[in-house]
Amino acid sequence: MNLVLLGPPGAGKGTQAKLLEDSRSLVKLSTGDMLRAAVAAGTELGRKAGEIMERGALVPDELVINLIAERIDQGGGKGYIFDGFPRTIAQAEALDTLFKQRGKTLDRVVVMEVDDEALVERIAGRFACAKCGEGYHDLYKLPKVEGVCDACGSTEFVRRKDDNEETVRARLKAYHAQTEPLIDYYRRQGKVNAVDGMADIAAVADEIERALAGGSVKEAKKRAKTPG
Ligand SMILES: [Zn+2]
Repeated sequence: MNLVLLGPPGAGKGTQAKLLEDSRSLVKLSTGDMLRAAVAAGTELGRKAGEIMERGALVPDELVINLIAERIDQGGGKGYIFDGFPRTIAQAEALDTLFKQRGKTLDRVVVMEVDDEALVERIAGRFACAKCGEGYHDLYKLPKVEGVCDACGSTEFVRRKDDNEETVRARLKAYHAQTEPLIDYYRRQGKVNAVDGMADIAAVADEIERALAGGSVKEAKKRAKTPG
């Protein structure tokens, strides 16, 4: 089974992709991870990508697609989960072509639906212990003793630079403008399942498993009608 996880940054796609990797023996393809790995491995594509990223420019679609093709041709696992790709209609079309050329299909697209305001609150409130990494939140989980880490007693805390309201809102805006049109694109292919991305991790995972279990029947019917 090949699937795409769609949702804004911070919706928990990476966490759910990891869980699916284990539960369904799938290989998780995160383009960020793949780019970093290719750069580290010093492959031809990696060298090209490295140069582009050093300039601070966006890695072109073609290069990302080639990287995905290279990874898929290596095989392994019972299928692939895409996390953070595709982000645009052009990338989705390229991914469809890539699968078609290999006699494979993208089976399901799971959309993690989130409430923008709740997501901003969730992400912008995050901070962590600088020493042991224990996670905290301004609203949901403050240290029991103010300024002292529950886990290790350290008094130093850090916030990720991009975990602030302004950055989160900018990422949400880009998601709504560029990535959300993909939902309709895939809905026309009959592949979309939406889940409530605001529920806790285990509940979201359950909902995704139920969606995939129910979705495979519908998908099998559709595939029979569509040659190639
Ligand atoms: Zn700590």
